[in-house]
Amino acid sequence: MILQNALGSNPRIATDQIGAAAAKNGRLDMDALPSVLTRLQRQGAALGHFNVADLVLLKAVVAAAVEVRVPVIVGASEGERDFLGTYELAALVKVMRAEHDVSIFLNADHTHSLAKAVEAAKAGFDAVVIDFSALPFDQNVSRTKETVEAIKAINPAILAEGEIGDIGTGSEIHETAHNEFRNLTTPEEARQFVASTAIDILAPAVGNMHGMLESMVEGKTKKHLNIERIAQIKNAVGVFLTLHGGSGTDDEDFLRAIAAGINIIHINTELRVAWRRSLEGSMASQPNEVVPYKLLPAVVDSVKRVVTSRLKLFDAQLTSNEMDLSTAR
Ligand SMILES: [Zn+2]
Repeated sequence: MILQNALGSNPRIATDQIGAAAAKNGRLDMDALPSVLTRLQRQGAALGHFNVADLVLLKAVVAAAVEVRVPVIVGASEGERDFLGTYELAALVKVMRAEHDVSIFLNADHTHSLAKAVEAAKAGFDAVVIDFSALPFDQNVSRTKETVEAIKAINPAILAEGEIGDIGTGSEIHETAHNEFRNLTTPEEARQFVASTAIDILAPAVGNMHGMLESMVEGKTKKHLNIERIAQIKNAVGVFLTLHGGSGTDDEDFLRAIAAGINIIHINTELRVAWRRSLEGSMASQPNEVVPYKLLPAVVDSVKRVVTSRLKLFDAQLTSNEMDLSTAR
C-alpha cells in the first residue's frame, strides 16, 4: 500500500527523521513515549490523553499542548478512527509533530480486535489500548497477550496497554451512575495480568468511569477515585498506569492519583461537551453563515480551553515553572 509506505511501515524511521529535524531546530522534548512518561513520573506529573474525532478537535488538542508547552497524547478509539481514518490521522499527527516543538504522541484507544490493533501499529501509532476487558479474565489474558506479540512484531517500540475491571463504556452523557465499588481491579489480578501479558501500561478500574452524568456536566458533582487502590496496584505491577474516563473528576483526586502512580489521564467527554455546545453557539450567533472556517474557529478555541486547563492541572510543577519563567524574562 503506497500510503502505508509513505508513512513508514517502520515508525522508528519517521520518528528519527523528526528527531533529527528537531535537533537541527534546537528543539527539545522529542523523546520516545516511555522516557517522557518516566520523566513526568519523576516530576510528579501525568501525560494528558485527549480523544479526537475530527480536525477541529485535533487542532484544539495540539494548540493547547503548544501553548502550555507540555507533551500530549492524541487518542482515537475504533469509532473515532473509523470516522477520521486510521492512516489519515497518523499522517496529520506526523505533519503536526514536525511543525511544533512539543512531543505529540498517537494512541489507538480501546481496540477490541487483533486486526484493528495491527492496523494501528502499521499506521505508526505510538501505543495501542488493547481492550478485551469485557471478557472473562483468562480470555482477556490470552487475547491481550496475542495482540501484544502481534503489534510488537510490527514495531518493537510500540507501547501496549491492557485493561482489567469495569470502567463502563461510552464517553458520553449517562443518565444513571456507575457503581464505583463494582469490579475494582485488585492488586493481585493486576500483578497476574501484567505478568501474563507483558503489557507496558495497565488501565485499572479504580473508581473511574467513562462518560459523565448530567450533574457532572453542570459541575454539581464530581467523580472520586480510590487513591489507596491506585497505590496498591502501582506497587504490585510497577508498570505505567492509565486513568480512563477522567472527565468530571475532582481536581484534588487527579493530583492524588498522579502522586499514587497514575501516568496517563484520558479526557474525552469534556471535549465532546465543549465541541457540541460551542458548535451550537457558533451556529446560533451566525444564523446565515455557511463558511466552515468562520463557524469552526470558535469551536477549536472552546475545546482548546478545556485541554489547556487539564494539561496545566496534570503538570503539578507548571504553575511554579511559569512563575519562574515570567520573572526570568
Ligand atoms: Zn477509555
